[in-house]
Amino acid sequence: MRFETRAIHSGLKIGNPSKSIIPPISPSTIFEIDAGGRNKEDLHYTRLTNPNRLQFEEVIASLEEGEAAAAFSSGIAAATALLQSLDPGDHIIVPEDIYAGNRMMMKGIMSRWGIDMSFINMTSLDVIEAHIKPKTKLIWIETPSNPLMRITDIPGVVQLARENGLRTVADNTWPTPVNQLPLKHGADLVLHSTSKYFGGHSDILGGALVTAKKDELWNRITTVQKMGGAVPSPQDCWMLSRSTRTLAYRMKGHNEHAAIIADFLNSHPKVADVFYPGLDSHPGHEIAKNQMKGFGGMISFLIDGDRQQAINIVGRSRLITRATSLGGVESTWEHRRSSESEGSVTPDNLIRISIGLEHPDDILEDLQQALD
Ligand code: PLP
Repeated sequence: MRFETRAIHSGLKIGNPSKSIIPPISPSTIFEIDAGGRNKEDLHYTRLTNPNRLQFEEVIASLEEGEAAAAFSSGIAAATALLQSLDPGDHIIVPEDIYAGNRMMMKGIMSRWGIDMSFINMTSLDVIEAHIKPKTKLIWIETPSNPLMRITDIPGVVQLARENGLRTVADNTWPTPVNQLPLKHGADLVLHSTSKYFGGHSDILGGALVTAKKDELWNRITTVQKMGGAVPSPQDCWMLSRSTRTLAYRMKGHNEHAAIIADFLNSHPKVADVFYPGLDSHPGHEIAKNQMKGFGGMISFLIDGDRQQAINIVGRSRLITRATSLGGVESTWEHRRSSESEGSVTPDNLIRISIGLEHPDDILEDLQQALD
């Protein structure tokens, strides 16, 4: 079955004895044990698993073309679970402009647990190779990166990783599986903040990991999920499955609108540079074309001015909502550096915009008046 069909039909039959077309929310934290004793395959306790979580895990694994998925209470909880599945002393290679919250989690928490990390520019395979150490275990890919929209060559990194016996994880939150399938390019794991496009309406916090195969690392990850306990509620899983049914069509709209807005920004005299992988002028455009089916709904741009002028432009919007985060049906934008902490490599004149599903002419009109 094709993507759109899997998004609508996967998972619906799991834990759904009444054969409801849409499975009910199962809020129960406990499940009855047979008189003859506990069957290992039966549901037991909701932290371990729950029908709604299983339904969402089934659909996201199917869309990312992985063997299995594990859902978490946030994207950062999923990322933390992955690093907690490594051993103290292990080294990881990470993009220097990785999502700022993940950088804070890595530096503020996981480094104290003995994870060693190199934050580097991941646009060059030679630079990545030069940072591989004897204790390196994992290369972390975020492409396009947040917020510089740098493009990393997924098949190139996978090849390098395999030659060196390393694993790869790709944070696929921004492109989503509609636009990019890292596991198909050989990555071992995909990470998601499902708070973004999967949720799609700025009202669910969640995360997920999807694996190409159920191996020893995956056993460790699911142990952290169940025993660490950072799991999503049945209600959130149910909402996520509901949103996922329209993901393909929402992403088509995000892709289409962002292309229009990127062209507009690219020719605006007050804009010094536009970072959008769909533009011919983007340095990663050729690589992006090879590994992406669409270029997504996120754009970053530099204004011809300083920090305060960037803040002032964002302050003048009437339709585009001033907010962090992304991936909702409504357009949002922010002076990105203000949301990031120390270690940020984001220029002070950068504005990051999440293009929503309003009519693109209304977004253009608002941008026009805010920039003028
Ligand atoms: N990964 C990326 C690329 C993100 O943009 C974010 C959040 O903005 C996260 C991970 C973290 O997700 P969450 O906020 O759900 O913890």
